[in-house]
Amino acid sequence: MYTTDGATWTQSAGLRKGLPTIGVVEPAKLNTDAGDDYVYDAIVIGAGYAGLTATRDLTTQGKKTLLLEGRDRLGGRTWHATINGFNYEMGGTWVHWHMPHIYREISLYGLQDDWIVTQIPGSKEDYTTLTSYGEQRNISHAEEADIVGRVWRLFCNVDGDDLRHTWKYAFGTDQSPDLMAEWDKLSCQDRLDQVKRRLSVEDLAVLEAVVLQMGSHTPTGLNDIALHTRLRSGQSKLHRCMFEHAVSTGNLSYSFQTPVVRIEDANGIVTVVARDGTSYRAKSVIATVPLNVLSSIEFSPPLPQEKQAAAAEGSVNKCNKLHVDLNGPDWLSWGSLGAPGKGLIALFGDGLTAADNSHLVGFGPDPNTERGMQLDDIEAIKVAVKDLLPKDKAEEVVFNRIVYHDWNADEFAKGTWCYLPPNFITKYLSALQRPHGNVIFASGDFSDGWRGWIDGAVQAGMQTAKQVIDLQSKQQKVLPKVNAANGVNGA
Ligand SMILES: Cc1cc2nc3c(=O)[nH]c(=O)nc-3n(C[C@H](O)[C@H](O)[C@H](O)COP(=O)(O)OP(=O)(O)OC[C@H]3O[C@@H](n4cnc5c(N)ncnc54)[C@H](O)[C@@H]3O)c2cc1C
Repeated sequence: MYTTDGATWTQSAGLRKGLPTIGVVEPAKLNTDAGDDYVYDAIVIGAGYAGLTATRDLTTQGKKTLLLEGRDRLGGRTWHATINGFNYEMGGTWVHWHMPHIYREISLYGLQDDWIVTQIPGSKEDYTTLTSYGEQRNISHAEEADIVGRVWRLFCNVDGDDLRHTWKYAFGTDQSPDLMAEWDKLSCQDRLDQVKRRLSVEDLAVLEAVVLQMGSHTPTGLNDIALHTRLRSGQSKLHRCMFEHAVSTGNLSYSFQTPVVRIEDANGIVTVVARDGTSYRAKSVIATVPLNVLSSIEFSPPLPQEKQAAAAEGSVNKCNKLHVDLNGPDWLSWGSLGAPGKGLIALFGDGLTAADNSHLVGFGPDPNTERGMQLDDIEAIKVAVKDLLPKDKAEEVVFNRIVYHDWNADEFAKGTWCYLPPNFITKYLSALQRPHGNVIFASGDFSDGWRGWIDGAVQAGMQTAKQVIDLQSKQQKVLPKVNAANGVNGA
C-alpha cells in the first residue's frame, strides 16, 4: 500500500510523491460497541517507536488502549519503502545490539539474525573520497577510520580522560549535575571552535561532516554501533510485529490519519480532540509527539511554562537525508565526507538494488542554510552528489533513482533526529519528562539514554507504559468501585 509520505524521482517518471510501504494501516478500528463516551484505560498519541512500545506494553498488560496517529502509517520518523524489491530506509535506520531497548524488540520478534551490514568491501570504487574546502583526495577505508576516530575522539573528550571516570554510566543524565551543566553550555560549534586549532583543514572538514551527520567509518566507538547494521526486512517490519502483537491482545483500538489538536484533563478524565472534531476519552494519555511538534497541540490546563519554553526552543537538527541509486555496482563500497559541501556532506554505498545498481545514502545540512538544498530540487541533488564523487568520475555517473522523505517540511516531525541546543538538558530535560496531570510524555527526543535515537524512543515508551500501569493500580486501590456501564471508577 502507498503512504502519502516520501517521494521518488526517476528520469522516465519524474518526481512522484508517495511511496509503497508495509507500514500503512487501515485507517481505524475503534471500540464502537461501548458508545461515544467510552473511557479507555489509556490513549497513546503517535505510532512511532515510543508510541508502539507503550501501546504494546499497555495492551499486553490488559489495558484497553486507543492508539491515535496523524499519519496513514506506522513508525513515525522511522519507516521503509520497498521499490522494485529494495528497502529504502527513509528515517531512522541503523540499530545495534549495543542499543539495549531496541535490540530487545528485535530479538523478541525473531529478527536478531535479520541484518544488512552497511558499506561492505569489494566493489570497484573501494575507497573514501574526502573533499575539504576545494581539495579532494581518495584514501583507504582504514585511513578514513583512523582520521575519523582521531577527530571524533578529540571532539568528545571533554574531560581529557575520555569520560572514563567523570561519566561512569552512559545513560545517567543525573549522575553529575555540575558536569552536565558545564558541558551542556556548549553547542557543537563551540566545541569545534575549542578543538579546531589542533586540526588540519582536512581534519576539520571531516569533523564538521561527522558532527552534522553523526556517522562514518570508525574503528571503534560511535559508528561501529551507529552506522553498521540495519534490518534486512526493514524498520516497518518491526513496527508491524509490535503493532500486530498489540492487536492480538484484543485490547487495542486505533485510528490513523487522526491528528490530535487538543488534550483536556479534567475531573480525572482526559479528553483528546482530533482535527476533525472527534473526541476520545481515557484515564491516562501518553503523548509521544516529537519535541518540535509539541507546541502544535493545545493543552488544558496549559502546559507549565518550562515545558512550553522547551517546546518553543525545540530540536535544532534540520539535517537532510536522501537515497541515490547510481547505475551499476561499482559504488557499493565507496564512501565520502566533505565540507562545506554543496548540499550534502556525506554519501556512502549501502547495498545493491535488485537490478545490481549501487544504492547510496546521503546526508546534508539544513535546507534553509547557505549550504543546504531543498529535496524537491533534483538538479541541486545531482550537483551535491557530484561534488562528493571523485572529480574524474563525477560526470560519468548515471542517476537511476532518487528517494527521500522531507522531514523538515513534515508537519508531524518538523525536523530529523534530535539535537538539543545549549543549556537545554540542564534547563528542561526533567521538566519535559514530568507528567502533566494524567498526561505522560515519551519521546526519543528527551529520553534518558540514546537521546535522539531509536533506542531512546523504545526506552521512553517502555517506561511510560509502566508509569500508567503503576498510577492506575494505585488509583484502583483508592477507588475500588467500578461503574460497569462505562468502565470508569465511580467516585
Ligand atoms: C532522517 C533520520 C535519520 C535517523 N537515523 C537514525 C538512525 O540511523 N538510528 C537511530 O537510532 N535513530 C535515527 N534517527 C532518529 C530516530 O528515528 C528517532 O529518534 C526515533 O524514531 C523517535 O521516535 P519517537 O517515537 O520518539 O518519535 P516519532 O517517530 O517521531 O513518533 C511520533 C509519532 O507521533 C505522530 N504525531 C505527531 N504529531 C501528532 C499529532 N498531532 N497527532 C497524532 N499523531 C502525531 C507522528 O506522526 C509520529 O508517528 C533518525 C531520524 C531521522 C528523521
